[in-house]
Amino acid sequence: MNINFVENLDLEGKSVFLRLDLNVPLNEKGEISDFTRIERSLPTIKHILKFTNKIVIASHLGRPKGKPDPKYSLEVVGAKLTELLNVEVAFVDDYVKAPIDQLLTRLGKNRIILLENLRFYAQETENSTEFAMKLAKGIDFFVNDAFGAMHRAHASVAALAERFPKERKAMGFLVREEIRALDQIRDHAQTPFSIVIGGSKVSDKVTVLLNLINTCNNIVVGGAMAYAFLKQMGKPVGRSLCEPNTERMVQSILANAQARKVSIYLPEDHVCAKSLDDSKGKMFESIPDDYMALDIGPRTIERYKNIIGASKTIFWNGPLGVFEKPAFRRGTIAIAEKIAETDCFSVAGGGDSIAAINLAGLAKKFGHISTGGGASLEYLEGKTLPGLRALMNG
Ligand code: AMP
Repeated sequence: MNINFVENLDLEGKSVFLRLDLNVPLNEKGEISDFTRIERSLPTIKHILKFTNKIVIASHLGRPKGKPDPKYSLEVVGAKLTELLNVEVAFVDDYVKAPIDQLLTRLGKNRIILLENLRFYAQETENSTEFAMKLAKGIDFFVNDAFGAMHRAHASVAALAERFPKERKAMGFLVREEIRALDQIRDHAQTPFSIVIGGSKVSDKVTVLLNLINTCNNIVVGGAMAYAFLKQMGKPVGRSLCEPNTERMVQSILANAQARKVSIYLPEDHVCAKSLDDSKGKMFESIPDDYMALDIGPRTIERYKNIIGASKTIFWNGPLGVFEKPAFRRGTIAIAEKIAETDCFSVAGGGDSIAAINLAGLAKKFGHISTGGGASLEYLEGKTLPGLRALMNG
């Protein structure tokens, strides 16, 4: 890919704007419940710190609707960065009033800057050039390591990068790692190549499936996705969650798979309940009218495990059941465990798959865990992500 890498920039004493994806999950008390995105950002920050402390870190957090909302403040992330990096993190909550070039001139030794949530300004999501100009004030280099935001044409990702000539901008360590892993899935997958797809929405995943159908051998379907397929085939789905208006998408996936001789596997037994609050599911091969299927059943698990065990490449996106509830997570955990123990190149993407992998303590056993669910899907669809395009141009 024709993009500079941060290691190739001469950063000695220079000022750097570093776009990260610090969009961490927060619990009801406002505490960070998973540090993955912060930890995966550390190599790039540490690399830059070897040459300069004039670093302005910026990220989004949640969806605060273009105005300040204390619920989505990045201040908690600043505290964690201070702890992990052993530098003082100066948290700047109004950088439109206090211009960045002035902040940089006042910055003492062993201090770096963290800007408040970019999405507190509507201009961020509007990809405003004016906002990008404010962010670029006094900055020598732009580094983007926010893989999870690369598919967004937002000001800090697109307009800001466009302002810098090619030799003064680069991707960081995480973005490079993500792209290498996804390229291996998209362009160089060793066969048998199996896709494990779950979650609730067919519409989010139809394009990636249609693209990967050209190179994969198996598509293993779970989650609520599966019931859209089974319904289309005339099988009873009871009250299972079925995304409406997906008939044509399902038809086109089935037709393309048949044309390319790709096998599609669907659940043949199901863990069902009348309510999501039931503490125990009942097993059925044919889903009764008054039940919802909430997880794949034991026969399906065994069948899916065999396919996974015989694969050389696996891409997994989306849980195979309502894994948030202990009664309906067996399928997702069993599949995560099987992927982890199989000798193959495996990539998992999507927040829920990552949560399930962490729940099972399997993170270290995966080839690559993508920090960007939406971005990884769009990359595998074959799109050029706006954030990457902006780093190539100029
Ligand atoms: P997605 O964002 O499309 O990847 O969907 C993730 C969500 O799908 C999770 O919150 C799961 O609880 C949900 N899910 C997975 N399987 C089912 C199912 N059988 N019925 C209802 N929801 C499901």
